[in-house]
Amino acid sequence: MTRTENPFSKTLISWYSKAKRDLPWRNTKDPYKIWLSEIILQQTRIEQGLPYYERFVDHYPTVADLANADQQDVLKLWEGLGYYSRARNLHATAQHVAGELNGSFPQNYAGLIQLKGVGPYTGAAIASFAFEEAVPVVDGNVFRFAARYFGIEHDIAEAKNRKFFEKALAEVISPNQPGEFNQAIMEFGATVCTPTNPKCEACPFQGSCYAFEHKCQTALPVKLKKVKVKELYLNYIIYEYNGQTLMKRRTESIWNGLFEFHSVVSPDRMEPEDVLSQLPASNFTVRSVDGPVKHLLSHRKLWVRFYHLELNESANLEALAKELDLAIYSWEEVLTLPRPKVIVNHLQRVVF
Ligand code: SF4
Repeated sequence: MTRTENPFSKTLISWYSKAKRDLPWRNTKDPYKIWLSEIILQQTRIEQGLPYYERFVDHYPTVADLANADQQDVLKLWEGLGYYSRARNLHATAQHVAGELNGSFPQNYAGLIQLKGVGPYTGAAIASFAFEEAVPVVDGNVFRFAARYFGIEHDIAEAKNRKFFEKALAEVISPNQPGEFNQAIMEFGATVCTPTNPKCEACPFQGSCYAFEHKCQTALPVKLKKVKVKELYLNYIIYEYNGQTLMKRRTESIWNGLFEFHSVVSPDRMEPEDVLSQLPASNFTVRSVDGPVKHLLSHRKLWVRFYHLELNESANLEALAKELDLAIYSWEEVLTLPRPKVIVNHLQRVVF
């Protein structure tokens, strides 16, 4: 039975039917592909995430294929996208769905948010896009549009305030096409009700928008909490001998599972001679010192220096590897290992 559409959802869906961008995950009802796209697009722009989505679907067409993959291969495919815990959660959730849920995703919001890495936003997206459940999505773009349109002044940095936005949206979500409505509202926030210079003159909601009427577009949404960013000085030591180098696999932190060089880390700036003096006594020639390069993570500002040290004939690569708990790799092998983006970028810049 078709239920009556409210004017808000009619306007929004009508706008979307003309303005929407054709993206591969918009033409599927497969919860696996929708979930995949949503995890990839968290903290990532569509243009950047699109090739990753295509590569994942190509390599792992079903949740069982992803579940059976080696974690190292998954991290390798994810390389460069950042926030690697997403890739590890993606793999763990695929194994859970394939192993414990007979390969089927839960078919409603309540079941979906039980999955690892699936929060209220991703749960609502999958529930509405794949199963047409009328539960509103609230991502950054929707927060902004809803805050301005409805005049909601609650701080969006406070998790407890999400409910005010969900409540307002629950009253206008399309009862007939909730999936289309949710796609539309995210697209609208991303392309019309933008952070700076919202396109109010061409906006179909101008006549009923709180922020437009009160000329307070720039004051909304309210976002007060600032993430404290800590600075860290990271010095990577690239030992090289006869076409081989030393790396190790990280087993903790956001780079868990990625390979990196030996490092000297400090909360304070260090001069290169101080770094070199902390290394085990070994016969090497300093070929180059590059950086510092600034690398931003969600909660850290890293200043990264790379020290390229060529070991002399008499040096013992095996003994050094043992002492520093590293393993020996040829440069060909290094290129196949999943690595943090800052290392990938450095190796692309430098020709050994
Ligand atoms: S009128 Fe302006 S502020 Fe209001 S919804 Fe439209 S674009 Fe956003």
